[in-house]
Amino acid sequence: MKKRTVLIIGAGLSGLSLAYFLREKKVKAEIFEKEIKPGGLCRSIEKQGFVFDYSGHLLHFRNRNTLSLVNKVLNGSLTKHKRKACVYTFNKFIPYPFQANFNYLPKRVAEQCLRGFIEARKPTPKSGNFLQWIYSKFGKGIADHFMIPYNTKLWKIPLDELDHKWAERFIVVPTIEQIKERLTKKKSKSLGYNDSFWYPGRGGIEELINGFFSGLDNIHLCAQAVAVDLKKKIVVFGDGRKEKFDKLVSTIPLPELGKIITALPKGIQDSFEELRWISIYNVNLGVKARGQSGRHWIYFSQKDIPFFRIGFFHNFSSHLVPRGRGSLYVDISYSKDRPVCRREIGGRIRKYLIATGIIKDENEIYCENINDIKYGYPVYDKNYTLARRKILSFLSRNSVISCGRYGSWRYLSMEDVILEAEKIAKNKL
Ligand SMILES: Cc1cc2nc3c(=O)[nH]c(=O)nc-3n(C[C@H](O)[C@H](O)[C@H](O)COP(=O)(O)OP(=O)(O)OC[C@H]3O[C@@H](n4cnc5c(N)ncnc54)[C@H](O)[C@@H]3O)c2cc1C
Repeated sequence: MKKRTVLIIGAGLSGLSLAYFLREKKVKAEIFEKEIKPGGLCRSIEKQGFVFDYSGHLLHFRNRNTLSLVNKVLNGSLTKHKRKACVYTFNKFIPYPFQANFNYLPKRVAEQCLRGFIEARKPTPKSGNFLQWIYSKFGKGIADHFMIPYNTKLWKIPLDELDHKWAERFIVVPTIEQIKERLTKKKSKSLGYNDSFWYPGRGGIEELINGFFSGLDNIHLCAQAVAVDLKKKIVVFGDGRKEKFDKLVSTIPLPELGKIITALPKGIQDSFEELRWISIYNVNLGVKARGQSGRHWIYFSQKDIPFFRIGFFHNFSSHLVPRGRGSLYVDISYSKDRPVCRREIGGRIRKYLIATGIIKDENEIYCENINDIKYGYPVYDKNYTLARRKILSFLSRNSVISCGRYGSWRYLSMEDVILEAEKIAKNKL
């Protein structure tokens, strides 16, 4: 059995970008991936001339260096798009974000939203949970008409069981001036971290994976880690192969790692059991016509509609569809306690796509691709911080770095995952 310096489990964006940075540092690492292809959630699927991602995968950059790196990895094909997104509510489409565009709603509703927002500007005690955060930032009108129904639909747990910290980055809080600007219907600046985004000019998001993957010769595919012995520092794979490590980097979902570590101490086992997540049932459709006049994505807060978001691949790149055709993704969230009925969901999706005017009828659908994503979003509940901290420090004491969106158990974007990998390569290996 050969001794490896660094062993990486998982060849998603995290494992691959880490291997890329390590190669630059001339550190030898071997990567083991359970699937026949690398990429994890950043893979793309081709079907009948349509290219689908695992739901929408759009790049947002906070860091100029990551933007340049990704553009380099994509051979200069990265393309910038100005967001065109909206919210479907009160049976109509209004511009996104809701909290700055409620003036498009019936007068009574818009007045409630504005009054609540003004009241919420008064100083209040510091918000603890996500529900209190919503009320304190947006007031009762916006909370009741959008924030609470939308987030309850997405997170599948009562919002007072969620921490608010993750939200500060992702949910924009407009200023009163920005709201007034919109009320007078003057041209206004777009808001939020995602007011523009980037996407490969050719192919799906998997192009990013291909870029990081090319030139790496140390990847073992169809190699599922099935046991990790921390004392002996050995990983066992599905085919019986054993690999020894000095440093193990795991990018697989934390709960999955917990299942394969042998002889976990009871306290740590309990912390693993406290981790919660929501899953995403992603249905991609190839359709006859390109509807929705250039929109990129739409949020749905209404309770009767099963999906919380849909988006349009053909508006990210015309290379993703056969000439003249359209394609869309539909996302439904579910959890262990609130499962999705796989037998019925297809019919319900089609019913509401037609009811909301997204497609005219079922005959418009050419093909379907379904991705059942078990680990969609880690849930930041009251146990989250402590359980995660205990697990990660236990792993670190045992020469294991757990990283990536599901390895570090954080709401990380693709850019965050690349930045994290760069930092680990620089400082920890
Ligand atoms: C619905 C959805 C939409 C998203 N949209 C965006 C977006 O628009 N923009 C954005 O920036 N980010 C988005 N993300 C986040 C993005 O997908 C992640 O940040 C990124 O893909 C995480 O990469 P990763 O390598 O950490 O994890 P993964 O992609 O999950 O990779 C982990 C890898 O480990 C492998 N593996 C698992 N178990 C084992 C085992 N036992 N042995 C060996 N290998 C194993 C898996 O097969 C996989 O290849 C989205 C995520 C979801 C769920």
